[in-house]
Amino acid sequence: MTRPYNFSAGPAALPEAVLRQAADEMLDWHGSGMGVMEMSHRGREFMSIAQAAESDLRELLAVPASHRILFMQGGAIGQNAIVPLNLSQGGVADYVVSGSWSKKSYKEAARYCRPQLAATNEEDGQHTRLPAPQTWRLSDDAAYVHLCSNETIHGLEWHELPDLQALGSRAPLVIDCSSHILSRPVDWSRVAVAYGGAQKNIGPAGLTLVIVREDLLGRALPICPSAFDYQVVAEHDSMYNTPPTYAIYIAGLVFQWIKGFAFEGRTGLAAIEAQNIAKARLLYGALDDSGWYVTRVASEARSRMNVPFFLPDARLEEAFLAGAREAGLLQLKGHKSVGGLRASLYNAMPLAGVQALVAYLQDFQRRHG
Ligand SMILES: *Cc1c(COP(=O)(O)O)cnc(C)c1O
Repeated sequence: MTRPYNFSAGPAALPEAVLRQAADEMLDWHGSGMGVMEMSHRGREFMSIAQAAESDLRELLAVPASHRILFMQGGAIGQNAIVPLNLSQGGVADYVVSGSWSKKSYKEAARYCRPQLAATNEEDGQHTRLPAPQTWRLSDDAAYVHLCSNETIHGLEWHELPDLQALGSRAPLVIDCSSHILSRPVDWSRVAVAYGGAQKNIGPAGLTLVIVREDLLGRALPICPSAFDYQVVAEHDSMYNTPPTYAIYIAGLVFQWIKGFAFEGRTGLAAIEAQNIAKARLLYGALDDSGWYVTRVASEARSRMNVPFFLPDARLEEAFLAGAREAGLLQLKGHKSVGGLRASLYNAMPLAGVQALVAYLQDFQRRHG
């Protein structure tokens, strides 16, 4: 049986091999007589699962010893509060708005600190190009600078993260990388905190990854819940409260899958990135060459992961989506705030899935164009 290709923006498709392995181990993990959901998080079995997941993630993303990896809960939206609770000390923090996710972060921060709008790309409610770092208005006394490195809804991606020091800021950079984490390497010399929900590119909803530079621990406001205090979580190896054990287990299987992934003579994260570049090039190329489908994001800001696009006539959308479902191409509807269509091409989407989508795009245009 071949499964349809699933272009959901999140929760999103997982590698089929991972789902099969999880199914095989559902009732009995490695001869323990227990499924992973049934294990104590402090038992030997689950501790080994969590430790392997953490060390595989550290290896894949080349996370330096200066940064801690935390397995948390509450999602990226939870981090919109947890970041200022941990880092702001109630003072000023700079926010770069490049789409609806970073705008949401900026708004939530005002409950805990004094967020300053360092830059925005919003024009007539649209977000189509990235605000150039040289134009940002950075504060002298910011506790941190926040940006969303891949805007899932509007389809913009920071392909190079800013060098804050070169811009005259001493503040640490905090990124929401929910929707492109593990799709490419991270330049840790520029990133102090990276966070993301797992349900886009890593595993099931319920797990939130936080990678935080160690010198930023221990600064939380007194009102910060203990379970959300980075220092408390770090001191307890992410087991201050019961972690989302099954989600961590699936994430660990995904990390193993990435380590073994091969593409065009590469392996691991380099292979994943090469395939992501190939998939994005194929889809954007087909949309551009069509002279019919419409994209709005400036080419240098286009996300490799989330590709919003439009039909020349919105009345054709229903027919497009119904035909796509029949062709085995699922969840292509655009986000309600943007409209149109959106294809999310996370790591688990094979090149063949994008080839099938492009064939469908061409066929639909022939019939309706
Ligand atoms: C999906 C997403 C979120 C929201 O994640 P939750 O798990 O719902 O909190 C936040 N930021 C980005 C960039 C996202 O893609």
